[in-house]
Amino acid sequence: MTKTLTVKTSSRVELLDITHLIQKAVAESGVKSGLCMVCVPHTTAAVTINENADPDVKTDIVKELNKIVPFNDHYSHLEGNAAAHIKSSLVGASETVVVEDGSLVLGTWQGICFCEFDGPRSRKVLVKVVPG
Ligand code: ZN
Repeated sequence: MTKTLTVKTSSRVELLDITHLIQKAVAESGVKSGLCMVCVPHTTAAVTINENADPDVKTDIVKELNKIVPFNDHYSHLEGNAAAHIKSSLVGASETVVVEDGSLVLGTWQGICFCEFDGPRSRKVLVKVVPG
C-alpha cells in the first residue's frame, strides 16, 4: 500500500522536517522490518535527509542552494520557476530508509526533510513501506 501525505509549505524555499509523519506512516503499515521509500511527486520540490537538531542547518542549506541556483539567471524556462526545477533535481525526489522494529532507522541527528523550492503550496509526499 502507498500512503499519500499532504504537506503545506509557507515560504518560497524552505525545508520542513517530516520525520514524524513518515514514522506514523511506517507504524500504520504494520511492517516491522523492511524499507521505507519516500517519494515527492513534484518537479519543484524534493526530499533529503539531514540534521534535525539545529534548525540553522536547514537555514544554511536554503541559503547556499539559493546562492548556487539564483532565482533569476536568464533561464529559458518561461514559467518563472526554473531555479526551483534545478534545485529539485540537485536534491532529488526520493529517499529510502531502513525500517527495523517498526521504526525508521536514522542516525541520532538525522531527520527526513521535505524541500520546498516554489512555495508556498500544498504538496504531496508518497510513502511506501516494503517488508523484507
Ligand atoms: Zn516550471
